[in-house]
Amino acid sequence: MGYLEGFAVTFKKLGEERVTGEYKAGGEGEKRDKPERFHGRHVLNRYEDGMEKCIGCELCAGVCPARCIYVRGADNEPANPVSPGERYGYVYEINYLRCIHCDLCVEACPTQAITESKLFEFSFTNRQDAIYTKDELVVGDDGMPQKLPWEDWREGDDALTSGWMRATSPGGSVAYENTVAWSGELGYGVRPAEQGQVGETAHPAGDVAPDQQAHDAHDGGH
Ligand code: SF4
Ligand code: SF4
Repeated sequence: MGYLEGFAVTFKKLGEERVTGEYKAGGEGEKRDKPERFHGRHVLNRYEDGMEKCIGCELCAGVCPARCIYVRGADNEPANPVSPGERYGYVYEINYLRCIHCDLCVEACPTQAITESKLFEFSFTNRQDAIYTKDELVVGDDGMPQKLPWEDWREGDDALTSGWMRATSPGGSVAYENTVAWSGELGYGVRPAEQGQVGETAHPAGDVAPDQQAHDAHDGGH
């Protein structure tokens, strides 16, 4: 095809109906609501009294398949602790040029210090902005994620960022239903357990956890 035929195709296409919508909230092309468990940009949470939840254990960095978390812990000063316990996250960085938002860091964290918001609309013009520091990841004094200049926050993106998805066991045992396994958070308090997972997946034995049932079956009840 010569270039004149190429231009002809282009001009022909200009007259056709567009099939893509505008990328904005509201009106034509409105975006769908995000799922409750949507994995967006991370936050580092604080307890209700303002103390940081991160204890600098580096489990999140160890489990990250993309190797994009860098953590260094330091001892708390007894007179002026940053977190409860002995240590806190002194350095904390996430490289968003690498993160695949798998949430394994969230699963690994023993204190629910790291969780995810629903923000995914952010882009960078330099490498430094893409590497989020602790100062940028820690929630503000109102418990909400900080909103950085290169991020496009939408309504609800900063809501319900707490760790909350472990109210039931993977086996769906009713023994764990409504049992909150997480601590309270600045701005949110203690989040209620997820409801409505008792059903076909629930174990009829009720109060007996699946791993205990397996154990009992294995040793014949002795
Ligand atoms: S979401 Fe996955 S890839 Fe991203 S920092 Fe956490 S563990 Fe790493
Ligand atoms: S975010 Fe959680 S897993 Fe990572 S260093 Fe802090 S306490 Fe440990």
